[in-house]
Amino acid sequence: MSRFFSQDYATLTPYVPGEQPKGQQKFVKLNSNESPYPPSPLVIQRAAEAAGTLNYYNDAASRELRQTLADFLGVQPENVLPTNGSDEILYFAFLAFCDAGHPMAFPDISYSFYPVFAKTTKIPTHIIPLKDDFSIDYRDYCGLNENIVIANPNAPTCQTLSLTEIEEIVRTNPDNVVIIDEAYVDFGGESAVPLTKKYDNLLVTQTFSKSRSLAGGRLGIGIGSAELIADLNTLRNSFNPFNVNSVTQAAGIAAIESNDYYMENCRRIMDAREWTYGELLKLGYAGQPSKTNFLFVKKPGFSGEELARLFREGGVLVRYLGGERTADYIRVSIGTREEMQTFINVAAGIAARKG
Ligand code: PMP
Repeated sequence: MSRFFSQDYATLTPYVPGEQPKGQQKFVKLNSNESPYPPSPLVIQRAAEAAGTLNYYNDAASRELRQTLADFLGVQPENVLPTNGSDEILYFAFLAFCDAGHPMAFPDISYSFYPVFAKTTKIPTHIIPLKDDFSIDYRDYCGLNENIVIANPNAPTCQTLSLTEIEEIVRTNPDNVVIIDEAYVDFGGESAVPLTKKYDNLLVTQTFSKSRSLAGGRLGIGIGSAELIADLNTLRNSFNPFNVNSVTQAAGIAAIESNDYYMENCRRIMDAREWTYGELLKLGYAGQPSKTNFLFVKKPGFSGEELARLFREGGVLVRYLGGERTADYIRVSIGTREEMQTFINVAAGIAARKG
């Protein structure tokens, strides 16, 4: 740390992304919830074409992308805002709607960036414990009178709230913003986007990083009332108006045009997930069923850290997240069926060590 670093940030513990291995050793990479499938051919073609115009600034307002997203989601362009990944729209939302008197409430086990956003923006938090089975009791959030962010499905616990439960949370907190982070919604969840037409305090965030194979392109979106989106846009324009580069804008439009390709990939990932989950249970691993593109599992007799190390030695990268209540767990992203076969082979070898 330099002697110039603001005392305000000296105690920040930044978010730690999953390892992105470079170099000789080939791993089966199941540690960052990426898609194992490449972008659609149309996305690759349009991104390459857009790369030829990188000498010009991108359209700061992302007009064509916004229109395409609006048509796809059944909303108006003023109801949707594209950002540099959904991390960015979440950060803008913390900045826009919270302050010393308006804390952000979220579960104790959820996306590990939420507490980091709160710390960076100096926003007080209200941490609400999940139930013992790692599910969210939606009643904990009803009538809370605080801003709320919930990942649905939740990460890394894989579990979902129903739309009825989400609506109850939104309805009973009319004077606060409820953010539903739908990063994994395409793997079996129910989207709350239709509810944004009924409630002006609901912001839904989604990402192209998981189901649409665009993690490296950085494209996220926020969907909500025109007023909420205008506030977020004010922050965006006060921070970096060119936040979604022209290659990503072109890729995003093409990704929507290639929707069938991505939905087919999601179906394959869900099939591989169900197969993997069944095999893991047979091998004595434990965890809840998942509605995401990952599983959160443990193997009695092993710590999560030990499991992650043993999988790495077996050539498979999985994610150990630590945490008081989750120290025994690893998070395993779902790859292709072949990758999951390799994963299960290694999982069987590990299980045999302490059979
Ligand atoms: N929300 C959740 C729950 C996530 O797991 C992630 C991925 N790390 C994100 C948001 C952010 O994804 P991205 O910035 O790539 O859109």
